[in-house]
Amino acid sequence: MPSVEEAAACAEAARQPRETRAQRTKRFLSSRAWQTKRYEIIRRDKGRCQYCGRTAADGVTIQVDHREPLSKRWDLRLADDNLVCCCNDCNFGKLAGPAAEIAAAAGIDEASPSSMSTEGV
Ligand SMILES: [Zn+2]
Repeated sequence: MPSVEEAAACAEAARQPRETRAQRTKRFLSSRAWQTKRYEIIRRDKGRCQYCGRTAADGVTIQVDHREPLSKRWDLRLADDNLVCCCNDCNFGKLAGPAAEIAAAAGIDEASPSSMSTEGV
């Protein structure tokens, strides 16, 4: 279900045809659409890593992972089915593939929602 923001982001992308994939990824990861979606996924999965089952209470940093990386399935970037709560250990564990460039593009502190409360909203 494409949101208004997403449509706006597409229009914006169309105006910048020479944007590189890394730039596009970086812009997406700082977009409000993604911040909102990420928060939704953390709430949906109750802040629990879907791979190993740990939470921030276990000392891991919880992130939201794209199962199909952005570099492969850009169209699934906001698809609930493609997003899972994931701890930093499990996320970095799969960085052998295309996810590595995403992490590089995103910067490490992009993916640190542990400072964000999952309670009380
Ligand atoms: Zn994990």
